[in-house]
Amino acid sequence: MDRQEDVVKVVKQWIVHPGRPAKLGKRDPGATPGCPSKAQAVEELPGMLEELRALQYRLFAENRRTVLVVLQAMDAAGKDGLVRGVFSGLNPQGCTVTSFKAPSPEELHHDFLWRIHKAVPPHGEIGVFNRSHYEDVLVVRVHDLVPREVWKARYDQINAFENLLAANGVTLVKIYLHISREEQKKRLLERLDNPERNWKFSEADLAERKYWNDYEAAYEAALGRCSTPAAPWHVIPADHKWYRNWAVAHLLLRTLRDMKLTYPAPRGDVATLKRKLRAMK
Ligand code: ATP
Ligand code: MG
Repeated sequence: MDRQEDVVKVVKQWIVHPGRPAKLGKRDPGATPGCPSKAQAVEELPGMLEELRALQYRLFAENRRTVLVVLQAMDAAGKDGLVRGVFSGLNPQGCTVTSFKAPSPEELHHDFLWRIHKAVPPHGEIGVFNRSHYEDVLVVRVHDLVPREVWKARYDQINAFENLLAANGVTLVKIYLHISREEQKKRLLERLDNPERNWKFSEADLAERKYWNDYEAAYEAALGRCSTPAAPWHVIPADHKWYRNWAVAHLLLRTLRDMKLTYPAPRGDVATLKRKLRAMK
């Protein structure tokens, strides 16, 4: 099969179809559809990043639309690794990464989307949300941080908010990095063994792991209820780091290609401008 067609099919497999359940339990975090080997991923990634940079430049030149990547995952699923492996390949002038931590007292005195909306980048840019408004139906739901009726109402509020963004020139690329419980354990143990990384690990991470099933249920609900035609969710198998990076680069490429980005027309007649410039001192 033609490689391009092959990859289009793969993107379809990652999508959570609007109105249907995500069925995370049935999706294999170790799968590698479309790219069976690490060697192939390593070979293809640089070319993909190069094309992404070219498309990013067009997005910037066009200056009419925004791309917003929403990244969610269990601990140690590789959000940071993905940002380093894929997004660091873009031009930093047009790409911002925002990490959302527990809300500050000021943020808590506003609605949950206040801090999120403020962080959406302007036209011409690519934004990456490392965690997002989805935390307000994930960690908040798992730990009962607000009453049930409050978080339950948020799925519809999120859909309305994302529809508003989409209708105003924001292309959302929502990505859930899907790792297995065993892979998380392996990575957390590796962190503890590595003096350069064990600062990242705390008692709190251990405590969160105990809630794995609750998080899985919360993700299942969030991905199922908030995958919409305007802003679908993608479940990226992430047990293999090389596959995760390859897959996200591909998803971004497809998104940017499908946007049919064009350069604006030159401001003035190029031939006249050239003639005038040549005539100048
Ligand atoms: P790292 O890989 O470096 O640990 P991280 O994204 O886990 O990255 P942390 O500072 O460890 O960063 O965690 C941020 C914490 O903030 C997470 O536990 C997350 O659940 C929490 N958080 C984010 N948004 C909210 C929210 N709206 N309400 C409550 N907690 C939130
Ligand atoms: Mg953490």
